[in-house]
Amino acid sequence: MTPDFSELPACGARPDEAQILSRFHYAARQGGLRHALPTPYGGYGDGFAALVQTHRRLGEVSRDPGLVLALNAHLWGAVFPVLLYGDDFQREHFLPGLIAGDWLGGHAITEPGCGSDVQAMSCRAEVNSQGYVLNGEKRYITNSPLADWLVIYAKLDGKITAFLASAEDRGCRFGHEGALDACRGSATGSVFLQDCHLKTDRLLGKIGAGAQMIQKALELERAFVFAGIAGVMQWQLDEVVKHSRERRSGGVHLGKHQAVSHRIADMKLRLDTVDLWLNECARLADAGQRLTLASAQTKLYAAEAFLQSSLDAVQILGASGLETGGSMLVLVQDALAGRLFSGSSEVQKNLIAALLGTGDAYRGRGSAS
Ligand SMILES: Cc1cc2nc3c(=O)[nH]c(=O)nc-3n(C[C@H](O)[C@H](O)[C@H](O)COP(=O)(O)OP(=O)(O)OC[C@H]3O[C@@H](n4cnc5c(N)ncnc54)[C@H](O)[C@@H]3O)c2cc1C
Repeated sequence: MTPDFSELPACGARPDEAQILSRFHYAARQGGLRHALPTPYGGYGDGFAALVQTHRRLGEVSRDPGLVLALNAHLWGAVFPVLLYGDDFQREHFLPGLIAGDWLGGHAITEPGCGSDVQAMSCRAEVNSQGYVLNGEKRYITNSPLADWLVIYAKLDGKITAFLASAEDRGCRFGHEGALDACRGSATGSVFLQDCHLKTDRLLGKIGAGAQMIQKALELERAFVFAGIAGVMQWQLDEVVKHSRERRSGGVHLGKHQAVSHRIADMKLRLDTVDLWLNECARLADAGQRLTLASAQTKLYAAEAFLQSSLDAVQILGASGLETGGSMLVLVQDALAGRLFSGSSEVQKNLIAALLGTGDAYRGRGSAS
């Protein structure tokens, strides 16, 4: 059954860290992190279609792309990599706490010097007698300032490799630097690694498997991160329809002006198309089929749709849509972020073209492999 999230703790336009965490924990308690995951670790043992429904509902109630992003970074960045690549010990140790939301996770790929081009990362790992030593810096990492565990990608002998690190590890700091003024319902920050010592049991997956693991994590993230945001778009559309029925201009309701009603029709079409793409991704994932092309198409379409609909909503609301701290204005900023996180719109186009056998074969976040 889809939870109704009706008791989600309230927050203003700029939630503090305690509010961010309490909303995440509430969403987790309602089962927001349990879909499409096996029951032995606390999952529901159901599929991605149920996940889409629950996340959509959470987005509609919360109207908070930041909260949606926090859940998705946690799920695709930490939970699924541990499930798919962890050994028995790692699954048993990490999954129950992560799936219950007792631990907050995420993944750290981006660095000050590289974002789209993952292969250009300069974070380094070396082997020592007890495990690994990591050095480098990560930036714009969702959940980082509040995280218990992050999956951190670094190059070992020139090959991208994944590690599990906590803020309590010696030489590791999860910081606020690089905080973003978008998706404010999540905390975004940095990771600093200075001779960070990790024991051998913190290696996640095989040495050198990191690039593939990133592709898999991003494939899932691109497919489903807009499920919650579709719920936000539903609320946005409902608000605009309401306003167009109440506000009058030229002796009639705004919606009677075709220029306004056509804008609303476009918003509805975009939202329904996003829903169709989400359901298609869920269908493919539940059938165990590859998502590479469909998830890139979904992310590209949904990110652009969210931005255009957010601009349309502000236009229909007139100056009231630009009031300081107004929800619709904040969504424009969040929608700009939506074109960047999980790989930018340009990178999705590179990937789609590469999968069709044309365009530049791109080696970074857009890799077709
Ligand atoms: C809200 C938010 C949350 C984020 N959370 C995380 C996280 O949890 N973990 C994490 O690792 N990262 C995270 N990121 C970082 C995100 O993945 C990067 O912003 C994204 O990959 C783009 O990298 P960049 O910002 O360095 O831009 P750049 O790579 O410097 O790109 C700048 C511009 O150039 C374009 N461009 C770059 N290369 C190409 C190309 N080959 N072809 C065409 N155009 C190109 C891009 O599309 C973009 O428009 C987050 C970002 C945001 C905004």
